Amino acid sequence: MAKKKSALKVMKGIDAPETVNEDAAKRFLTKRKKHLGIGQTVKEVLAGNITILSSAITLIESNLPKHQKIAAKIIEKCLPYSGNSVRIGITGVPGVGKSTFIEALGLHLIKQGHKLAVLAIDPSSEQSGGSILGDKTRMEQLSAEKNAFIRPSPSSGSLGGVARKTRESIILCEAAGFDTIFIETVGVGQSETKVHSMVDFFLLLMLAGAGDELQGIKRGIMEMADTIIINKADGSNVDKAKMAKREYENALHMFPPTQSGWIPNVLLTSALNNLGIDEVWKSIIDYQKLTQKNGFWQQNRNRQAKYWMHETILESLKNHFYQNPDNRKLINEYEQKVLEGKISPFEAAQVLLNRYFS
Ligand code: GDP
Repeated sequence: MAKKKSALKVMKGIDAPETVNEDAAKRFLTKRKKHLGIGQTVKEVLAGNITILSSAITLIESNLPKHQKIAAKIIEKCLPYSGNSVRIGITGVPGVGKSTFIEALGLHLIKQGHKLAVLAIDPSSEQSGGSILGDKTRMEQLSAEKNAFIRPSPSSGSLGGVARKTRESIILCEAAGFDTIFIETVGVGQSETKVHSMVDFFLLLMLAGAGDELQGIKRGIMEMADTIIINKADGSNVDKAKMAKREYENALHMFPPTQSGWIPNVLLTSALNNLGIDEVWKSIIDYQKLTQKNGFWQQNRNRQAKYWMHETILESLKNHFYQNPDNRKLINEYEQKVLEGKISPFEAAQVLLNRYFS
């Protein structure tokens, strides 16, 4: 992904905890439950109590069925109070300046009186248990703001599971009064599609390369972008950035028209020097006005709600199928038979599915 002359630097992430903080979830259940209960938790979330919001998100992130049951009830009760935010997806390769940009735009919004929640989906946890986003040391200024809530990516499970947890956390953040939600992910794989399916507006951060601007990121991801930002447009990089802007604009012209009616644009920023940040926000507001007027905003959210229903069904079926102890034994048996050539993989799958559903 990094091209020879690009300014891209891959930063080493900080290891994420192996699992979700089950201890915190337990504390919530034992100590707090006596005092709080589900109704009181919801009340505190609605009142904007950040500590309780955090605990409730910890429950969402827990893999224990009893936590999930409580989380589901909390979500259900918060749902009527959700939806009133602008949900913005932010992606780009490591080193492009996502956290610097989020801090700059975030502080800009806080100054304007917004309440901002920053959530993340870190796809690296699925494979390595590590973290590319390395959230702990990031966005120090923004995290000190009382109207900003920064939550690292859920750290364990499949990408689908992690994304669902983030999707559910959005509901609680909105119920807690956050009017702007950023969902950050690293532009290295499937996670952008998941983020795209839960946001109103999608920002792609890029760097100016040298003549090879369009190769760093997959076309599919570029097609999802409502605004492409060329970051680090400062110092000796300004001319290169301007050239990249023109190239991306040309490339965008060749994409089919968007369903939203919005014409994706390319903007230059220097997140480090706080330049171009206001223009990005203006684009988001213009997009919101346009799509709320032409109906796309709501249509898109409806489509996303349907998508998440089906995603959740698939995820639950998959978990249930693979986590059931009897089934696991049988799966191992049939894996062996497949390896020994006694049965074809397709037939083995069919036998296992038939047994499961009978
Ligand atoms: P992330 O991995 O995408 O979150 O990137 P970071 O925000 O951590 O930034 C990576 C490096 O690029 C850091 O050293 C930043 O200080 C630097 N950086 C970020 N934005 C800019 C910018 O606009 N201009 C310049 N020159 N450097 C930047």
